Amino acid sequence: MNQNAPDMRIVELIMALRAAGIVDKSVLGALERTPREVFVTTEFAKRAYENRALPIACGQTISQPFVVAMMTEALCLTPRCNVLEVGTGSGYQCAVLSLLARRVYTIERYRTLQKTAEERFEHLRLRNIVARLGDGMLGWPEQDGFDRILVTAGTKECPPALLSQLREGGLLVAPIGPPDGQFVTVFRRDGDSFHQRQVAPVRFVPLIAGIASAL
Ligand code: SAH
Repeated sequence: MNQNAPDMRIVELIMALRAAGIVDKSVLGALERTPREVFVTTEFAKRAYENRALPIACGQTISQPFVVAMMTEALCLTPRCNVLEVGTGSGYQCAVLSLLARRVYTIERYRTLQKTAEERFEHLRLRNIVARLGDGMLGWPEQDGFDRILVTAGTKECPPALLSQLREGGLLVAPIGPPDGQFVTVFRRDGDSFHQRQVAPVRFVPLIAGIASAL
């Protein structure tokens, strides 16, 4: 077998994302370069390139590739952006962001997920990611003034601490709405007010306050 041949499963996934309306070439390129099988358990490795959400540890999910691409596109990243991600989960979305931004700070409330994701970033040599265990609803106050913030868990309202840590003109993308369904919403900071735009319906696991007491 030719070691340099592209993995056809990734090629097909990228084609499916284009067909579903993802147009940003840098976003498609970042997903193409991110091996999703590294971010799922061996049990699901065979299904890693299906355009589907899959279960991960602690009752959480790795997002559907289309949703990862759509939210990444909505962030309008540049290579100079400092990004905060709330909800590290498997680490897949964070790995995609790390290829398009200067630095990504990511927070997870489950220790098991946080540790595993950090090992994956190390394995893939993604050196511009800083990961920590914590309550992402409080943001990352020491790094106040983010260019972009991405929330990857559903919430009725955007936590005020996150909006306050967005720099002037910065963008925050979050699934806003009740537990049974949310809208990906883009907030743009304009002084003390925020312009909001709804992008697409999604269904995420809930954003929950505090560090998880279970592992
Ligand atoms: N971005 C992830 C998606 C993970 S699902 C990926 O690509 O795999 C959402 C994650 O948000 C879960 O792991 C959940 O534990 C986490 N989460 C929920 N509330 C949180 C909070 N307050 N702070 C940090 N993480 C949180």
